[in-house]
Amino acid sequence: MDPYPKPLRDLISQLKRLPGVGEKTATRLALFILGDRDNLAGDLSRSLETVSDSIRLCPICFNLTDMPKCSICQDPSRDPSIICVVEEPSDVLALESAHALKGLYHVLHGLISPINGIGPEDIKLPELIERLSKNSVSEVIVATNPSVEGEGTFHYITRLIEERKLPVRISRIASGIPMGGELKYMDQVTLASALRYRRSVKEK
Ligand SMILES: [Zn+2]
Repeated sequence: MDPYPKPLRDLISQLKRLPGVGEKTATRLALFILGDRDNLAGDLSRSLETVSDSIRLCPICFNLTDMPKCSICQDPSRDPSIICVVEEPSDVLALESAHALKGLYHVLHGLISPINGIGPEDIKLPELIERLSKNSVSEVIVATNPSVEGEGTFHYITRLIEERKLPVRISRIASGIPMGGELKYMDQVTLASALRYRRSVKEK
């Protein structure tokens, strides 16, 4: 017999849907939420409701927003001729915290992955090409991760831009050996892309 009442069992089941959360962690979290005297359960449920009601995708870049357009697309100081393509909204957050991009973003919400049955139409790739076709974009920076899917998606975007003869410069975010990393611990994709995107330090 299940020692937990059904509502608690339901909460555990919902928490288990989160990435990286198994039965043990879900049970620990559920019991913590219930046992918290500062009404964590009530605050959490209100917060979840607000987030699911108010957060939508920006119609331009597909980043998350609670406004008709996201704050980056609304910002007049950003350069709309540069678009940085990323996989997930969390990548926008990471790049924004580095304050390195003056352009706008395009969030793909996934990568092309034939093994998992994800094709170009399943992510926001047609929307990217449409954006590039009608706007005065001069540069696309592809900042997908240096994984097999990230590289594959980068090559696919490059091919589409070339096929359509769009007057857009394509660049790939340089990726490689992290500070303090050792070559022998790097995986092949990291090493290959570190070599491919080597920067010249001295012209002959
Ligand atoms: Zn936006």
